[in-house]
Amino acid sequence: MEQENWLLCDFHIHTNMSDGHMDLSDVIDLYGQKGFDVICITDHAYDKHTIKIWEDNNEIPPTVWKDTFSDYLHKIWDEAKRAWKEYRMIVIPGLEISNNHDLFHLLAIDVKEFVDPNQKVEDIIRDIHSQDAIAIACHPHLKDSEPEMPFIHLWNEHEKYATMFDAWEVANRDDLFNVVGLKKFNYIAGSDFHELRHVYSWKPLIKSEKNTEAVKEAITLNQNVALYLLRRKPVDAGTSLRKNAASELEKSLEQDTLS
Ligand code: ZN
Ligand code: ZN
Repeated sequence: MEQENWLLCDFHIHTNMSDGHMDLSDVIDLYGQKGFDVICITDHAYDKHTIKIWEDNNEIPPTVWKDTFSDYLHKIWDEAKRAWKEYRMIVIPGLEISNNHDLFHLLAIDVKEFVDPNQKVEDIIRDIHSQDAIAIACHPHLKDSEPEMPFIHLWNEHEKYATMFDAWEVANRDDLFNVVGLKKFNYIAGSDFHELRHVYSWKPLIKSEKNTEAVKEAITLNQNVALYLLRRKPVDAGTSLRKNAASELEKSLEQDTLS
């Protein structure tokens, strides 16, 4: 039997195939060089109402389309091969089914077919499970960075959805959702990566064999899941140093974003 280790993971990552700022291949190199074991690419697939708003404004909707979903999958498979060869990192195809109209976002991990975001949540979850993928409720509570648009539907109905999901994000980027922890739901973290600086955020550590099926099972069983905060450079807690350290951090983040 393959050995079980604590694997550094991230199951919530966007690229410029939706609204992320980076190419898929750059994302793979970033995570590979940081020593990640397993990541999942989860670009947005938006509902029709939200897409129409963009189209009415003559903007290109930053969405994965049903018609081009197989191109999306093929791109991820190609990069997954390279990621394994160069970094021994597993890359899993996913989607963030994003319904801004009905105020919910959820992740499908190890998706094989397009999932229609215009369905009811329970039908979306059924669809995900029928593909042997797993369903994660993402940023299910108030998120600091998005105060004007809380995706609160899943939390409003959490009693109903509690066990339908395989796990709930208890942490998303810098936010911690205490309410999810208090309910003792199956939990997970995700960086909701859109740009370079987001790699420094809450991540899940999962104790499992290093293969997709074992990792999915470990998320579902949720016994050996831990939270880990990947930090760039801790800001010095000493009061006299704090200001300098903070501005150093800003500077290096800026350089990172530019490079
Ligand atoms: Zn989201
Ligand atoms: Zn997201």
